[in-house]
Amino acid sequence: MPKKNLFGYTLKALEEEMLARGEKKYRATQLYQWIYVKKVTDFDSMTDISKSFRDVLKEEYTLDLPRIFTKQVASDGTIKLLVEMEDGAKVECVLMRYDYGNAICVSSQIGCSMGCAFCASGLLKRERNLSAAEITGQVMVMNKILYEEGENVSHIVVMGTGEPFDNYDNVSSFIHIMNEAKGLAIGARHITVSTCGLVPGIKRYGDEGIQVNLAISLHAPNDKIRNELMPVSRAYNMDVLLDAVKEYIEKSGRRVTFEYILIKGVNDTIECAKELSERLRGILCYVNLIPLNPVKEKPFERSLDKDTKAFSLYLNNHGINCTIRKEWGTGIDAACGQLKEWGTGIDAACGQLRAKYVLKGRN
Ligand code: SF4
Repeated sequence: MPKKNLFGYTLKALEEEMLARGEKKYRATQLYQWIYVKKVTDFDSMTDISKSFRDVLKEEYTLDLPRIFTKQVASDGTIKLLVEMEDGAKVECVLMRYDYGNAICVSSQIGCSMGCAFCASGLLKRERNLSAAEITGQVMVMNKILYEEGENVSHIVVMGTGEPFDNYDNVSSFIHIMNEAKGLAIGARHITVSTCGLVPGIKRYGDEGIQVNLAISLHAPNDKIRNELMPVSRAYNMDVLLDAVKEYIEKSGRRVTFEYILIKGVNDTIECAKELSERLRGILCYVNLIPLNPVKEKPFERSLDKDTKAFSLYLNNHGINCTIRKEWGTGIDAACGQLKEWGTGIDAACGQLRAKYVLKGRN
């Protein structure tokens, strides 16, 4: 039987596992402390656990992490890793350094089937979901790098390759693992999940009762433009999507972020800003404008700086809080929509993550 990876267990699931083995429930807390607080990477170092049970752990469980396949570091300190899973599948994750802490953008699937027109990650069809252990593994691998600097991951965005709500259960377990007070204890408000607009997932997320942030990739002020950019819009149009968002805000009391990638001549006119401000009026929200990171296989261009500023100014002057996202990792293609092939800098932004080995097979 394959060994079970302890990085995939929420504390509750691990308690149930220990009880089912005839062990005391507190064993789960002991293991959590060793793994996440004392940063131990092998069972033999867990000295308050009996030798006989450590032998059982070694026999049936692992603490394996994804292997770093490639590491790129940008001049602003952004790190992009291509990590390899046990079956050889590879995904990218990116670390961005802010004044307030270290934020990692993790991937939730191998490839993505959502087909957003501007996105590099979407060039790869979904091959499989990542397990909770594989998503947690991305954080722990980055933590190993940061521990050497006396730092750690403090913020998480689930915004890399994949649609998180298309892999709901594993992403939900991952969030609980990150948020666990007896483990990494990353505050719910320091965790953001970004969806392209899968309405059933938004509804379910609202029922979780955990104060995690929600971001919606909107990228258009109306269905006509959104249908062209995001196929998901044909299943859940803007009325349906915004109704689900309002319901989520009502349940959670949390402000929602709308991500809006500005594309020259497509969605960046003042008419679009006007339509967007009218659609979002009255919704407890914030708009994050993202300058497009061009992807060579896609026909889209970045908006001119003057149009980006005018768009932002219009929204702010019409009651919609909005900022233009700082760009990370330029030179290492590490921005939203850029996670993709190596060698062109380090594409590390939303929509730009994808793995070289897959591209090689398809290009
Ligand atoms: S933007 Fe996100 S949801 Fe859309 S194709 Fe890319 S990875 Fe998938």
